[in-house]
Amino acid sequence: MKIILIFGESFHLLEDQLNFLDKYYINWKKNLFNLMVNQYQKYQNMIMNIIKFQIKLLMIYNIPNQYKIIFCQGGASLLFEAIPMNLLKTQNTSCTYTNTGYWSEKALDEAKKFCQNVNIATNIAYDEFGKRFVPNIDQWNINQDNSYLHYCDNETVEGLEYQFIPKFGRTPIITDMSSNFLTKPLDWNKLDFVYAHAQKNIGIAGSTLMILKPELIQNNHNIPYMWDFKEMLNKQSLISNLPIFPIYVNTLVFDWIKNQGTLESWDQHCKQRSQQIYQIIDNSHGVFINNVKKEQRSRINVTFTLKDENQTNRFIDLCKDNDIIELQVDVEYVYICLFLKSLQINYVQLWKNL
Ligand code: PMP
Repeated sequence: MKIILIFGESFHLLEDQLNFLDKYYINWKKNLFNLMVNQYQKYQNMIMNIIKFQIKLLMIYNIPNQYKIIFCQGGASLLFEAIPMNLLKTQNTSCTYTNTGYWSEKALDEAKKFCQNVNIATNIAYDEFGKRFVPNIDQWNINQDNSYLHYCDNETVEGLEYQFIPKFGRTPIITDMSSNFLTKPLDWNKLDFVYAHAQKNIGIAGSTLMILKPELIQNNHNIPYMWDFKEMLNKQSLISNLPIFPIYVNTLVFDWIKNQGTLESWDQHCKQRSQQIYQIIDNSHGVFINNVKKEQRSRINVTFTLKDENQTNRFIDLCKDNDIIELQVDVEYVYICLFLKSLQINYVQLWKNL
């Protein structure tokens, strides 16, 4: 059998997941009409799917009762805007952001459009070897009078993952987990609002979800309907027709994740498989260079640079010739995405050819 290894951004269904979908496909076909035109069915199918989704997620993540789950469309990018809109009382209320990578900076830039007082807790730092890292929280610029602190737990583009939750005082913590959702257990005592889009770890593009404490939502008026968390909560996410197929896929993936093991075992799995690649990078005598401090290297996105553009292109071509596809070149890095997919490969032969 020919094995093609896909290391791209998108979600790829593995063989057992495909079998799983196949099993359901028969039912799915039967139900297709209902699920696609559910607005005429008074949303019944949709609600059933959402309830199924919520129960599964609550069970896997052990989410305490005081949190609610909301679905929306528009991706994580929509939430970069909706979070300041809904969580700040006025434009003068302050909020804090970390600026530790491409995606946290995007969120910060959006917040500036809605808030005149965005405090930057920390920028990315570099050690004496030029490796990037997030400084210790005791070096952060923290303003206690904050509506919330926003950070991105796994900086996808740079391949840097936080090793701590930046909890301080009573400030609510908002976490973008788009690229490492469901890959490790979470400490709900420290988290107030977690969000992620589906397309990386839990399904296909189309649904984005939030797990949040409802009391964080301010009673703001004039929030456009599709951005309004209050409406979403009151209508159990059904503020318009939701993309039901992506939500259906989410429920299947949750089952798959649960059947594979606990979140503790997923965490171990993610560490081990990323470690396999980091080892090759570290033993490559400088052919591959990873620019993140070892302790903060991501378990999910392994990034590296090569000597120059020629070398990078040669490497990508070599990968393609060997059925390793979708390695991304983003900004200056090559990056390997290890979302919840398995990895069994001996790269050594391939890398020797460089
Ligand atoms: N946050 C993170 C951590 C991401 O990796 C991405 C996309 N790769 C986004 C946000 C933006 O997601 P979307 O395309 O759903 O808007």
